[in-house]
Amino acid sequence: MRTEDHPTAGTRTAEATAPSSPTPWRDAAFAVLGLFLPVECLGCGRPDRALCRACRADLAARPRRVRLVAGVRLDAAFEYEGLVRTLLLELKLRSRVDVARPLGGRFGTLVRAALAEAPAGTVVLRVPPSRAGARRRGFDPVVLLLARGGVRGTGRLRRVRVRGRGGPADGGPGQKERTAIERVAATIGTLRAHGVEGRDVVLVDDVVTTGVTMAEGVRAVRAAGGRVVRCVAVASVED
Ligand SMILES: [Zn+2]
Repeated sequence: MRTEDHPTAGTRTAEATAPSSPTPWRDAAFAVLGLFLPVECLGCGRPDRALCRACRADLAARPRRVRLVAGVRLDAAFEYEGLVRTLLLELKLRSRVDVARPLGGRFGTLVRAALAEAPAGTVVLRVPPSRAGARRRGFDPVVLLLARGGVRGTGRLRRVRVRGRGGPADGGPGQKERTAIERVAATIGTLRAHGVEGRDVVLVDDVVTTGVTMAEGVRAVRAAGGRVVRCVAVASVED
């Protein structure tokens, strides 16, 4: 275990050694804020900051996931269950941006690794959120998570309306009632890529469930003359 000088070493020694640990002044700021604004850990409910030391260790110990989407390797930072699911929902539904750092670190690492292995000039494109989600939140959780993970300059695919169809497959109303075939049929043609002709692309999204939306992203990039070299997600739902 690495040791280092730390202004609050008496109370928070172990935190200074965690890979995702905040800087000392942040620890001090949280300690002071905690006196006035008690916060409960979102993972276990213990009075602490948004994610306590034990839950951060739990998160760090969870394995990554790899699967194929439309013939492309998808790296997911986590499986979408338990603590990971809770934190993502808190971020997306309740705008708890304080969970972006613990989640975004590993996500950013995967994106940077994909870029390092890809040809120079590879671009990062985000699968867009549902219109309703984007309106409700007023911020893009994926862009925030990537920023916390040290990735900037993300572009995005565009969502297009397809005549005679309902909403997009992921996040649209009635999603659960649809059959798999209806979901796929309703999703084809809903995304469009621009400016990727002859370019390599890393596609990113927060949660990949069926993979239908990510596969549509791959289709859209290919249709625009680009090549998806990797997909990266924060979390993936396992079968
Ligand atoms: Zn906790």
